[in-house]
Amino acid sequence: MTAKLFSELNLSPELLKAIDRLGYEKATPIQAETIPLLLDGRDVIGQSQTGSGKTAAFAIPLIERTDPQQGVVQAIILCPTRELAVQVAEDVFKLAVFKQGLHCVPIYGGQSYDRQLRALRQGAQIVIGTPGRVLDHLSRGTLRLDQVRMAVLDEADKMLDMGFREDIEEILRAVPSTRQFICFSATFSKPIQELIRTFGRDPQNVRIEHKMLTVPTVEQTYYEIHGRSKTEVLTRLIDFLDLKLAIIFCNTKRMVDDLADELVARGYLADRLHGDMSQAQRDRVMQKFRTGNLEFLVATDVAARGLDVENVEVVFNYDLPWDEEDYVHRIGRTGRVGRSGRAISFAAGREIYKLQSIERYARTKILRRMPPSLEQIEEKRTSVFFERIRSALLQDGFQAEQDIVDRLLEQGFLSTDIACAAIQELRKDDNRRVEVSPRPPSAEAAEEPFGGRRRDGKGDRRSRPRPSRPKRPHRNRG
Ligand code: ADP
Ligand code: MG
Repeated sequence: MTAKLFSELNLSPELLKAIDRLGYEKATPIQAETIPLLLDGRDVIGQSQTGSGKTAAFAIPLIERTDPQQGVVQAIILCPTRELAVQVAEDVFKLAVFKQGLHCVPIYGGQSYDRQLRALRQGAQIVIGTPGRVLDHLSRGTLRLDQVRMAVLDEADKMLDMGFREDIEEILRAVPSTRQFICFSATFSKPIQELIRTFGRDPQNVRIEHKMLTVPTVEQTYYEIHGRSKTEVLTRLIDFLDLKLAIIFCNTKRMVDDLADELVARGYLADRLHGDMSQAQRDRVMQKFRTGNLEFLVATDVAARGLDVENVEVVFNYDLPWDEEDYVHRIGRTGRVGRSGRAISFAAGREIYKLQSIERYARTKILRRMPPSLEQIEEKRTSVFFERIRSALLQDGFQAEQDIVDRLLEQGFLSTDIACAAIQELRKDDNRRVEVSPRPPSAEAAEEPFGGRRRDGKGDRRSRPRPSRPKRPHRNRG
């Protein structure tokens, strides 16, 4: 199955224009296979790896088959989390932008009913929601599904894992039985197959096989590190790799809170995302992350499920996930649609066995790496700094600075000394972000994971005060 051009898929000019504006060149395999079936009105069960474009695969035919003249709900999309509902709604909105009169509305818990009510009353035809809130609206009579012709379950297996099974069934029963049933997921479990048997009508299975379950462009490595040293190694890697956009996964909300606090204390642009936060908070964080005003998103699996943010350089498994499947979903947050990305996992002790079972499950290889030493980081930072100065020199145009330099020259300072002093001042700012309170020496020795480089007894501590984190009991498994 080779990918097709969207122009070969019998789409309306409005959709082709929207797709073109999104910059998609050709349909991904899951899109090429499912769009024609869905346009034909068939029930479809779709399975393909994360980041393969499943949203557009169902959103495009949904939009095509919706009548903008009719101000009633004609399609419903169920998603496991609020973030995902919002993201899918944004995708639908972008694809429907040239369809006059077509409206979609996300409805999810945490947002006021009023706003959602207004949107529903205005005659939205496509509703995207989480099962709980959709059911709320149904029972209040503020949402009617009796004209629905298409029902989509996105990330269906996850919704079932989260205990939405009864809600989903109730919602599907509120929809006319003649509706098209569409079920998408990266993976399929037994309960989901039962659901399909109950609600699907002669569904077409579309399964895009990949040799590996994981995204091939993602380089996967791990570091053998014990709990207490993880933050230290994490920040070293961030500095060493000169990262600007990364997601760091932890297994518990508590751990997410702790780590986000630590990173902020060390001067990194970090924030958190987990299920205990209010919707407004979560929206704010995601907005910051998408617009690059946040470099490091510390998150739990539930909150980050399905999130699609461009150019995430690295996904860290600060905690190794308990579930092999979650590993696949986590690392799918980087290397989206052909871009390269990295997945870096921390593991120690018995977790190494967990890694092996992930490797088996995902049919992949996770290579072991040694953390960079402080010397290597220092070298790296010097070279980053060197490049910064060099490119500034190449760009020229120092009118404002020239004045200062002239005055210093007049006072008899040498130009090289002036440059050195300026660089020194600059580097103070540069170093500030890793200089928090010094770590007590005893703890430092105990936490030293980088054995080999320290045999001289002095290590590389001379060059720079060692970054540290506040003392606090470790709560990795909460
Ligand atoms: P999935 O649901 O399969 O994990 P998404 O639907 O979230 O994947 O899509 C992942 C990314 O790929 C999104 O950024 C989306 O805009 C992009 N994308 C989708 N279809 C195409 C396409 N045909 N060409 C290029 N990029 C695409
Ligand atoms: Mg998806």
